[in-house]
Amino acid sequence: MPALRCAVLTPDGRGRLRWFPDGLLAFGADGHIEYCGPFSGAGKLKSGAVSRRGLLAIPGLVDAHCHLPQYPAVAADGLTLLPWLKRHIFPLERNFRGPQARATARMFFSDMAASGTTAACVYTSIWKDSTETCFEEADKSGLRIAMGKVMMDQGSYDAAFKGSASARRDRSLAESDELCRKWHRRDHGRLLYAFTPRFALSCSMELMTRAGELAARRGALVQTHLAENRDELAAVKSKFPGSAHYTDVYGKAGLLGRRSIFAHAIWLSDPEVRALAESGCTLAHCPTSNAFLGSGIMDVPRLEKAGVALALGSDVAAGPSLDLFGVMRESVYLQRVASAHRLFKHAERFGPGRAFAMATLGGARALGLEDKIGTLERGKEADFALLDRRGFEPSCAPAAGGDGVLARLVYRGGRDCVRETYVRGRKVWRA
Ligand SMILES: [Zn+2]
Repeated sequence: MPALRCAVLTPDGRGRLRWFPDGLLAFGADGHIEYCGPFSGAGKLKSGAVSRRGLLAIPGLVDAHCHLPQYPAVAADGLTLLPWLKRHIFPLERNFRGPQARATARMFFSDMAASGTTAACVYTSIWKDSTETCFEEADKSGLRIAMGKVMMDQGSYDAAFKGSASARRDRSLAESDELCRKWHRRDHGRLLYAFTPRFALSCSMELMTRAGELAARRGALVQTHLAENRDELAAVKSKFPGSAHYTDVYGKAGLLGRRSIFAHAIWLSDPEVRALAESGCTLAHCPTSNAFLGSGIMDVPRLEKAGVALALGSDVAAGPSLDLFGVMRESVYLQRVASAHRLFKHAERFGPGRAFAMATLGGARALGLEDKIGTLERGKEADFALLDRRGFEPSCAPAAGGDGVLARLVYRGGRDCVRETYVRGRKVWRA
């Protein structure tokens, strides 16, 4: 049985930090963790342990929101959401076909694994063929990937399509369902399908409603965007005058639920926060993207107080990097700035511990996998990253406890410190 002697830093099932400076992580051939704790308490497992001292094991990070075809457009600067989509993103997604799509997918998953990310919820483009390609590459990557073909039946970029609006809608639904039946729960659930209506501005009520019905029938996930930008908010209001608010549009479509992930959720009223909390959905907080596009700052204390589940997303390509260490760092910085400027009613000190829990356990919950991943503990699957502590702890710094090591990791860590990445105990990447 593989057993690694290294430091271990992980949240427990309730998000509290556990720290084993001289730890042991052992997992079986089936990829399940047999032991995670202090080396001294590991009994017989100690004798077969491989020494990886100087390295730190953390749970694999989970990217709850990102767009694969957009990867070439990272750092396309100077615009806010709606013009940025039109100028930089829709043309790129329209051309996301053939060998170029495969090359992008390969690089995307490779960079993700190299960043210590083991699981993600991913958008592709509106094309079925290149979504197939993305699933094939996700399968080969060894990563744990939930993904879906983008659904749009209004303002879509499929300029060559000659059919009516209802024909476009039917095709989008049929193709999504075919992809779901083929890929959902592939490799014992390592690959998952997420029905992906882009956002309320690209979708008719009928498309969203029927997408939600299909997702429920197949036990699949749903992912979309919510209340990211003020111009978007105004456009949704005029497009759906019968809805009380943005969240209500998705509520009417039947999309609010435990298996739904809504990205951004910045501009929300109190009734919306209550509805989101009651639904059990997860919100994917994307601070680097929100800062990059100047969208705003998520009111994290208010959402946490209301009991809304939160995860973290890179939102590539509005977020400039797949590196979730940078996303954790940005989440802390934005909350500190918001607090200093008294932007939010509930002042709460948001720090590295919360960011780390969101990037691990929060992401696992978003994917419905909190019983399998998100923490390193016996019985869970061995999805983890091994980090070189010299990459984020200066040698002149005094020894620190778990909170101190985590702070250094969040404020100074990044892709450069990742040495190896594992999913189900299988190495999927090494430096
Ligand atoms: Zn997005």
